[in-house]
Amino acid sequence: MERKIVEIAPRTWLISDYLLANMFLLEGDEKALLIDAGSGLGPLEEQVKSLTDKPLILALTHGHADHLGGCHLFPGVKSLIHPEDMFFAEEFTEAYAQEFIDNYVKTRGPVRNPEATDEDWKQIIRPYGPAEYGTLEDGEVFELGGRAVEVIHTPGHSMGSVCFLDHKERLLVTGDTVNDCLLLNFPPHTSTVAQYHESIQKLWAREGEYDGLCQGHDTLTIADKSFITDYLTATEIILSGQASPQEIDDGIHKGLGIRCGKVRLYYDLNSIR
Ligand SMILES: [Zn+2]
Repeated sequence: MERKIVEIAPRTWLISDYLLANMFLLEGDEKALLIDAGSGLGPLEEQVKSLTDKPLILALTHGHADHLGGCHLFPGVKSLIHPEDMFFAEEFTEAYAQEFIDNYVKTRGPVRNPEATDEDWKQIIRPYGPAEYGTLEDGEVFELGGRAVEVIHTPGHSMGSVCFLDHKERLLVTGDTVNDCLLLNFPPHTSTVAQYHESIQKLWAREGEYDGLCQGHDTLTIADKSFITDYLTATEIILSGQASPQEIDDGIHKGLGIRCGKVRLYYDLNSIR
């Protein structure tokens, strides 16, 4: 299987985890920042090394296993995560990792890569290894050398979800906070609709500082920032009490939610405010 890597801006790569999730590599003059590490599928470490020879900072948009499972592929590099998502890292034991990747490949694999065989997947799944974690916080800035990248805490999809604002290339890396589909239906690990609404208001208040979005799934290009306004509208409709949630099944996620513009928002009726 071939991993797709797209240079979406100068010294900025979207690294697709075999169409299951996206990682982003941002290079400055002194350091490079890898945002997310995928599910633990190789040969990610070699591929990152072939793109940059700068010392690596590894930071996570959130703690879900499809973004954190590959952290151990970078020994000696601390994986930085928001404290409120640290429990995901602690839960990611060898047994959990094994069960996760088997299940993930079985359920998502055929949807994203219908041509791939079990043997194809077996060849790229890397054995579990321990990763070392550190924390990052709202407002923290990674100075990569001529390129500053700022952390913005955006609770919603998880309580420790963050976005990264790349001031140089004017990109907002959103992880799973602003995809075409948003899951808020796992409280207490997901926020209320009201709290997510605040998070995207916080992002939209700064829309003059970025031109496009780098999303955590389902695209190989820079996405339009109007995804954020679609979620603003969707959350406003829910919070005003005028939403008519319906059962949605998109082939991967099943649950109660609404559609609005380009997005689907799944939520729990008991976790609105
Ligand atoms: Zn996620």
